[in-house]
Amino acid sequence: MSTNTFSPASIESAFKRKGHSLPKGSNVIIVGAGAFGGWTALHMLRAGFHVTLVDAWGAGHSRSSSGDETRVIRSTYGANEFYFDLNVRALQLWKEHEEQWGRQVFHNSGVLWLCHQEQTPVVDGSIPFAKKHKMEYEYLSKATLQSRYRNVNTTDIHHAWLDPFGGYLKARESCQLVLETFIREGGSFVQAMVKPDASGSGIVLADGSRKEATLYIYACGSWLGRLFPDILGNIITASRQEVYYFGVPGNESEAWDKFPVWVDADGKDYYYGIPGNTGRGFKIGVDIRGNEFDPTNDNRLPDAKVLERARKFISHRFPALTNAPLIESRVCPYENSPDGNFIFQPHPHNNSVWFLGGGSGHGFKHGPALGELVASTFR
Ligand SMILES: Cc1cc2nc3c(=O)[nH]c(=O)nc-3n(C[C@H](O)[C@H](O)[C@H](O)COP(=O)(O)OP(=O)(O)OC[C@H]3O[C@@H](n4cnc5c(N)ncnc54)[C@H](O)[C@@H]3O)c2cc1C
Repeated sequence: MSTNTFSPASIESAFKRKGHSLPKGSNVIIVGAGAFGGWTALHMLRAGFHVTLVDAWGAGHSRSSSGDETRVIRSTYGANEFYFDLNVRALQLWKEHEEQWGRQVFHNSGVLWLCHQEQTPVVDGSIPFAKKHKMEYEYLSKATLQSRYRNVNTTDIHHAWLDPFGGYLKARESCQLVLETFIREGGSFVQAMVKPDASGSGIVLADGSRKEATLYIYACGSWLGRLFPDILGNIITASRQEVYYFGVPGNESEAWDKFPVWVDADGKDYYYGIPGNTGRGFKIGVDIRGNEFDPTNDNRLPDAKVLERARKFISHRFPALTNAPLIESRVCPYENSPDGNFIFQPHPHNNSVWFLGGGSGHGFKHGPALGELVASTFR
């Protein structure tokens, strides 16, 4: 079982079980307006269904997994062609919507993979797909890496790959844009906490009112395991993940802001980072799985030990940031599936109830393509 975001196993089986196609105009309720539920709602609406989207706190709010400033978008998925292709489609949809919105949410800063060994399966395995899609990566020898990116300490790096097609997405901002688009195109949004009713058909809102539909899709991120403890309690688990924003030196801030998204590909804590983003700081994420987390009630102060490890790493990899001040931090849940693959499957006893989740720390970028795939299941 792999719990590393950067090397999930095959997902094909998750999409083998097709739903029953529904007549156009059927009522559909989607619970959860994060990256998965929001995009699914928009695609279901465009497929001709009457869609109601419900979220307890709104789209891309701070407790959700989709609620940070930014998320990485990268095609690199080792030898897993399904995720590579899903990302290719997602990237296309992100760009199309960006144009429609007249707002930049995709920043094509590139993704720099820092490889410690001669072979790095998570990157090497994707190279044939990159060639197939004419999205080739650039190999950087240690010497080239050193001269091009002077801020990187390359002592323990063997080589790097630069994916010039990737970069980062504005996360919560795009969730809100998706919701606005959904409403503008005729979808209904309700801000309310949902309880599935005991029979599985119908939902009960916090004020006691009840709503019924032909199809219910629960895209509740890290809440899924708690909402359906008997079915998903051991399948979707929430872990506490931390990201830190470090202040870059004022005399060369532009160089730091223009640095690509980077991934320390085979380091043991799996650090990655998103520089730039209109001066929010040099963001570093710790991908190693943290403790179990309650996304509603747990506090979000950084853990001193995790922060200390991240600082140690950053002063090693980017020595000029050794004393950089921590200017922001964020604690956010990963909604882990057992093998890192997304989950899309019906309730075991009720075909009108489906679960969509298990983004496992890598789901955001795929939102538009995943939503499209889900909608195609019910057409
Ligand atoms: C620190 C961190 C870094 C990440 N980095 C990346 C990255 O670089 N690239 C990438 O692609 N992905 C990344 N991910 C993963 C990605 O963010 C998630 O996979 C994705 O956002 C999951 O979206 P979601 O819609 O499933 O969940 P969420 O965004 O959590 O949305 C679920 C929604 O369901 C609602 N909800 C839950 N229960 C109820 C209820 N009972 N009633 C009503 N509403 C309810 C919640 O309010 C919430 O809005 C990262 C995640 C984290 C935490």
